[in-house]
Amino acid sequence: MGYDPPALVSLIENLSKLPGIGRKTATRLGLFLLRQPEEKVHALARSIVEVKEKINFCSVCHNFTEQDPCRLCRDESRNTGTLCVVEGPADLMAVESTGAFKGRYHILGGVLSPLNGIGPEDLRIDELLGRIDRHEAHEVLLATGSSADSEATANYLAELLKDRGVRVTRVAQGVPLGADLEYVDQATLKRAVENRREA
Ligand code: ZN
Repeated sequence: MGYDPPALVSLIENLSKLPGIGRKTATRLGLFLLRQPEEKVHALARSIVEVKEKINFCSVCHNFTEQDPCRLCRDESRNTGTLCVVEGPADLMAVESTGAFKGRYHILGGVLSPLNGIGPEDLRIDELLGRIDRHEAHEVLLATGSSADSEATANYLAELLKDRGVRVTRVAQGVPLGADLEYVDQATLKRAVENRREA
């Protein structure tokens, strides 16, 4: 790459840091962008900067949002008394896309993982309990994935929540073992949400 212009080298370097993009793909993308009209490249660069500038976390559910609280937390028709607990924003989007859930959400920000040093204090569990204590929900639907860590997290939360006298449910079996919710197909996830069971 000795004779490549430094700006191109730097672009390829940065693109290759994206998930799933190896050096070969990064090079192809870099050369592609170089051939694009200037306004298209500007539009892309602007959207990348804008997501960082405009999008923050909702102070209630911790989903990404441009407006705090987010649209889902502001929507009074969603005030059904059921909170759906998910691991991350992608899981929220997956549950939301099924159309089977009409309540509100709470994003944990991960799962308990002793091997990786992630304990309860690293997740938004206190915030969840605070919402229960403020009577925001009478039912909590645990929609975590099915990996061992996810299962352990759901069990941990179920115990904590039951102590607070709220109904705790889990998405039904059928979510493939070890699967991240965001990769489960929509029909399966919809069934899992509809057929929730007591935790
Ligand atoms: Zn929100």
